[in-house]
Amino acid sequence: AAFKHDYLEIRDLKVVFDGFVAVDGVDLTVTSGDLRFLIGPNGAGKTTLVDAVTGLAPAAGSVRFGGVELLGRSSHRIARSGVGRTFQTASVFEELTVLQNLDIAAGAGRKLRTLLRRRTSVPTEVEAALETIGLGKVAHLPAGVLAHGQKQWLEIGMLLVQNAHVLLLDEPVAGMSQAEREQTGLLLQRIGQQRTVVVVEHDMEFMRTYASSVTVMHQGKVLAEGSVSEVTEDERVIEVYLGS
Ligand code: ADP
Repeated sequence: AAFKHDYLEIRDLKVVFDGFVAVDGVDLTVTSGDLRFLIGPNGAGKTTLVDAVTGLAPAAGSVRFGGVELLGRSSHRIARSGVGRTFQTASVFEELTVLQNLDIAAGAGRKLRTLLRRRTSVPTEVEAALETIGLGKVAHLPAGVLAHGQKQWLEIGMLLVQNAHVLLLDEPVAGMSQAEREQTGLLLQRIGQQRTVVVVEHDMEFMRTYASSVTVMHQGKVLAEGSVSEVTEDERVIEVYLGS
């Protein structure tokens, strides 16, 4: 489904915990076709920003997708509005197969029993996601036996079949091997061509290789924004990273 205004627009976002300002007036616009990396030292407010956008942290300001205001909606409704996220630890159903995990994600709202009944045909959206995330060969294995990288890809696949048009990924390559990192980078580039992808990342090498643009946060604010070379040559960014 194509949205009329296929971009995520964050305006003056603010999150305060007991008087501590974790996100301090952030403006951020991300369009589809842009693989945006969100970086910054520990405690910069990156995860809190993702939490706020997905309804998991109380926030003020505005978060719009497709022109629709998301702030104030429940996390469940935000997910149904096309904005999905992953967590640092993949949350998949370990006892269910890869296919069943995708089925459940695709049919969020449908009856579980119906979904788990043995099927003869695989819905095309699930088939397409399996192909995209490269897990076709392990489709019938329980998710619990997957390698760390494969679980992350399954979680991304679950967002795809949920029809997430904005994907917020929290440190997707943490703990991955070099080969898994490369596969993840290519996967994100592919997804990013048609959807809006924001990657929170600590791995600078991964960021340099795959980001099409970068936003740097520091102390709850946007410190710099631009291409990889623009932000990595920015004096303020260098200072923040050397100082941390
Ligand atoms: P990052 O993801 O950039 O490392 P976080 O968003 O996790 O940063 O944290 C930003 C700041 O907000 C940190 O100082 C952290 O301690 C604080 N913080 C995050 N969540 C909470 C919370 N639920 N209650 C109080 N403080 C929090």
